[in-house]
Amino acid sequence: MMHDKPILLYPAYRSGLSTPWGGDGLKTRFGKNIPDPHTGESLEMSVIPGLNSADADGQPLESLLDRDWAGMAGTQVERPFPLLLKLIDAQDRLSVQVHPDDDYARRVENKLGKTEAWAILQAAPDAKLVYGIKEGATKEALAEAAQHGEEIEKLLRFVPVKPGDVFYIPAGTVHAIGQGILLYEIQQSSDVTYRFYDWNRRDQQGNLRPLHIRQALDVTRVDYQPEAIVPRIVPDPHCQREILLDTAYFGLQRLSDCQNVPFTGAITHFSVLTALTEGSLQLADTKETIAFSAGQTVFIPADCAPFTLTCGQCLIAAPAHK
Ligand SMILES: [Zn+2]
Repeated sequence: MMHDKPILLYPAYRSGLSTPWGGDGLKTRFGKNIPDPHTGESLEMSVIPGLNSADADGQPLESLLDRDWAGMAGTQVERPFPLLLKLIDAQDRLSVQVHPDDDYARRVENKLGKTEAWAILQAAPDAKLVYGIKEGATKEALAEAAQHGEEIEKLLRFVPVKPGDVFYIPAGTVHAIGQGILLYEIQQSSDVTYRFYDWNRRDQQGNLRPLHIRQALDVTRVDYQPEAIVPRIVPDPHCQREILLDTAYFGLQRLSDCQNVPFTGAITHFSVLTALTEGSLQLADTKETIAFSAGQTVFIPADCAPFTLTCGQCLIAAPAHK
């Protein structure tokens, strides 16, 4: 049987006018080849049309998957490709938004819903997120406040963040990335976003961005108070291994001080490694070494040949599986 090898991925970027809130943090922190001084996102693992990540030869991820779906994505992973992984540099804050769940998104948009999670990589000393709404805030109060712009800020829950923090954002959770934050984002591969509030910002032509208050109110879970994730440490002789998330849509682990951590493709599903420091993989059979730099993402096909991982710290995500 032919085994696949780990694949270094090269990102697509969202920048310039599509992310006016972005900065140059992806370059200064990770040496990425950003296309614009206002670069908001590198799409590290993406099959979004026009924004595919690609291998070293420029082959889009979508065509790599199409060539051998079971071997690449896994025997238990159904189409469409389920996950999207980004690094985000918020030099300025993002809009206050909420995403629908699968039921609502299917019914109203004929798309998948969106549950996401963030791992904070870098944060200014006073950096904050919007993470849910205040306890007791009702739909009526939100609806009323949304008519009056900044009134809504009084109903939002602002939480301070520091590097290493992890936040789970199930569909229906009101959220916004604050100023001065660089983070890793894993999410369902969907683009359905309802914007509640955009801080009354105007673009260079003086225009406000469109809001979607009715849909945002429809999908917001007012009874839900999200909590920051407490990592669960699992014993591993080759590294410090923390389970950050194990959810209905994806799992996420953080590995630190990795010395030759053995790894084999899971057959049922792919996984995806994002390096937070430089490191390398060594294939067990051929001894071939694949080096990667901090901020780089490596796709690990479901039928990947065995290898060992050496790295200071990385995040490894996988789709939910049986
Ligand atoms: Zn979001």
